[in-house]
Amino acid sequence: MTDPTSTSDDGVASRVEALLADMTLAEKAGQLTQFFYFDLPPAEEIEETLNADFARQPAMVEAELSQGRVGSLLFVTDPAEVNRLQRMAVAGNRHGIPVLFGFDVIHGLRTIFPVPIAMAASWDLRTVEQGQAVAAREARAVGIHWAFAPMVDIARDPRWGRIVEGAGEDPYLGSAVAAAQVRGFQGASLGEQDRIIAGPKHFAGYGAALGGRDYDEVDLSDAQLWNVYLPPFEAAVAAGAGNIMTAYMPLNGIPATANRWLLEDVLRRQWGFEGFVVSDAQAVHNLRTHGFAADQVDAAARAVAAGLDLEMAIADPAYTHLPEAVEQGLVDEAALDAAVRRVLTAKVRMGLLDDPYVDEARAREVLADPAHRDVARAAARRAAVLLRNEGDLLPLDRPASLAVVGPLADSPRDTLGPWVFDYDSSETVTVLQGIRERAGQHTEVSYAPGIRPAQRTFPSMFDMWGDNAPVDPAGFDDAAELDRAVTLAREADVAVVVLGEWQNMIGEAASRSSLELPGDQLALLQAVVATGTPVVLLVMNGRPLDLRWAAEHVPAVLDIWYPGTQGGAAVADLLFGDAAPGGKLPFTWPRTVGQVPMVYSHTRSHEPANQGRRYWDEASTPLFPFGHGLSYGRFEYSDLSLDRDTLRRGETVTVTVTVTNTGPRPGEEVVQVYLSQRSGTAARPVRELKGFERVGLAVGESRTLRFPLGPDELRYWNAAARDWVVDAATFDVHVGGDSTASTSTSFAVSG
Ligand code: BGC
Repeated sequence: MTDPTSTSDDGVASRVEALLADMTLAEKAGQLTQFFYFDLPPAEEIEETLNADFARQPAMVEAELSQGRVGSLLFVTDPAEVNRLQRMAVAGNRHGIPVLFGFDVIHGLRTIFPVPIAMAASWDLRTVEQGQAVAAREARAVGIHWAFAPMVDIARDPRWGRIVEGAGEDPYLGSAVAAAQVRGFQGASLGEQDRIIAGPKHFAGYGAALGGRDYDEVDLSDAQLWNVYLPPFEAAVAAGAGNIMTAYMPLNGIPATANRWLLEDVLRRQWGFEGFVVSDAQAVHNLRTHGFAADQVDAAARAVAAGLDLEMAIADPAYTHLPEAVEQGLVDEAALDAAVRRVLTAKVRMGLLDDPYVDEARAREVLADPAHRDVARAAARRAAVLLRNEGDLLPLDRPASLAVVGPLADSPRDTLGPWVFDYDSSETVTVLQGIRERAGQHTEVSYAPGIRPAQRTFPSMFDMWGDNAPVDPAGFDDAAELDRAVTLAREADVAVVVLGEWQNMIGEAASRSSLELPGDQLALLQAVVATGTPVVLLVMNGRPLDLRWAAEHVPAVLDIWYPGTQGGAAVADLLFGDAAPGGKLPFTWPRTVGQVPMVYSHTRSHEPANQGRRYWDEASTPLFPFGHGLSYGRFEYSDLSLDRDTLRRGETVTVTVTVTNTGPRPGEEVVQVYLSQRSGTAARPVRELKGFERVGLAVGESRTLRFPLGPDELRYWNAAARDWVVDAATFDVHVGGDSTASTSTSFAVSG
């Protein structure tokens, strides 16, 4: 990789080597240690909610900083604090080496974008890239150098709370979205202005946690790993990601954080990754918890020997013991040097050694940039997925009155979604606010929550940040409130019901054993529908929920996800027809939790028509297929053709198709191309996504699109050959607006 900035590779290397040559073992260990720095929450609360270590954090970290024993800090987002801590670091370190500041910049810093699963649902790589570029600009302005993002874990079990942070079930979509995010965060290479280091995570397999339980073990076959779980990481590395974070859990029995095969063989040797690797929080420490390392010295030695560079620590880093480990001969100093070299290289490339401080006045300006809010609003419009629209209820046809119902309709914190820390509720446009602003004088808008917010059975570890916790309004009269909501709905022309999961019900440590709408939400929906007023259901979610009843009884269902800072404004744009929805589901939406995991790209069953043989009490089909999503236009596909019908291995065939908007309104469609291999040297999935493009079409407009299918699309990892293969076989190509697309043609690959 070459560096197009003024710092040449040679220049970077010689600065790094000069520092390294003069460092003691303890100083090297310090460069490899990253600490959380929590400054705000009151101590007693912390002790109750998580861990007494958090309370001791600031004093302990500052002591380490003043001794020059810290390589990186995470969780500081205030520019004045960044400068204060950085001055401490530079003064405390004999070589004046600054710390790298990292943070979970997951879907924005101050301007919050739709959650990552929603951004993926846009199937729009420009939107995805732009969103992370805005996030990077804000983060860099406050002094953050590095995002612990994107999360590129494939998620096939919606019980897993972290499905919200990724791009869903599919490796092709997941790879494209991963690369777009890396480009957004980093630009073309490390060290660009207004950009930060991207840290794809969690390497590897974390999304396949057993039973969807967060942090649980992961056992994956070779074929699953290579064909499904690793591709987004490879794509992120190819896009130039400067960092990788390891996963918490053991992969096939070997903890990912000390997994030499993953870090050295796959990541560095096969993929040519040149950046640095960080552990997940406390994951080196956890090598003992897994029953893998004997003690902290052993844990530190084995992590470094496996190729892990930085240890992310809350307290008592194992890496403090690295000098001992080297002296006892448990790990070579050369392995330590390689790790320090990678961390220092990142610091030099990011310009830290020349200018470690941040301009606090400029930070305020950047955070307030109205252009960022515009990008977020456009993204939220593009992310929404129209699941159902019977009788073209949407867009709304100038109703005289609208009743907005549901506690999530006016909850700023929930509108933002999980993984948001540095926000200002007053800057967030809720659905109710967005509708009120857009409705103007012609439409009268009333609101009632109808029910109180639902609560988690067990509290969330994130509840200690600000107003994350669901509020239980004092004096809430359940019967009277339900009545009021129903009355408002009955009297209105249209009812807009907003339901879903509260944001602390999804994300890390937020797995569920059920997919039902929490609390009394289904009863509220049923009561509103029973009034006979046409109902639009807006779903606020990061995973598929049990919408079987709604899918039969509610005419319009729009999935708005957790739409972010400008969410309510974007939703109003869609409801009133100022923009058309065009997002598509990045996962299969099951009917019930008992069907999971359920993916469209399953292998063929023993007979095509085996209804009743899979579950005798449930259909074998999902509620909504992968790739599903409607718009205000209607689309017809025609003239599907190939530029050749046979090819040799290594050659490319180009698919051409025309899509026309035959509906009465402009619309957005994502044209999707699926491949299906009829026979081969392994049993292949029924179909796999291999191309897509989102297009906006005016009434009557047609577009002809081309999709090349070459060796990258045709190959797969074959467990018997233990290699990538392209089989000589016939391939069917299906093109359409979701994964059930029926327009098809075929070609053959000859031997
Ligand atoms: C999560 C990571 C996150 C880290 C720092 C961990 O618990 O698994 O994804 O980046 O915390 O917040």
